Amino acid sequence: MAGEPQADCLFCKIVAGEVPATVVRETETTVAFRDINPQAPSHVLVIPKAHYADAADLAAGAPQLAADVLREAGQIAADEKVVESGYRVVFNTGAGAGQTVFHAHAHVLGGRGLQWPPG
Ligand code: 5GP
Ligand code: ZN
Repeated sequence: MAGEPQADCLFCKIVAGEVPATVVRETETTVAFRDINPQAPSHVLVIPKAHYADAADLAAGAPQLAADVLREAGQIAADEKVVESGYRVVFNTGAGAGQTVFHAHAHVLGGRGLQWPPG
């Protein structure tokens, strides 16, 4: 069922505390933790605690939760002090776009110059 934990999902396991992560912020509905393979000096993932496969599923199934993730992305940027220099919020969607974990997550990247368009 939409939003229910998935037994084989890495990020559901992080939410449950079954897989360790460097958590930097948590709310009632979201968790933010450092990416294990950072692509920028500041690289934090923001996820909804509930399981949705990608950002579009999240927005369709739980719009308030999608808003929570976006608000938290902004809060992370502020905490990481990258608002002034600029940062990027990315939702890779689909394997062809680099999505490897099918639990919706926002990458918050900053702390270096970010090229546009991304590769
Ligand atoms: P995607 O490729 O799906 O957009 O993003 C998944 C991200 O999760 C990748 O950037 C990858 O480095 C990160 N990741 C994969 N496994 C783990 C893990 O066990 N812990 C943490 N903190 N990040 C992970
Ligand atoms: Zn999940």
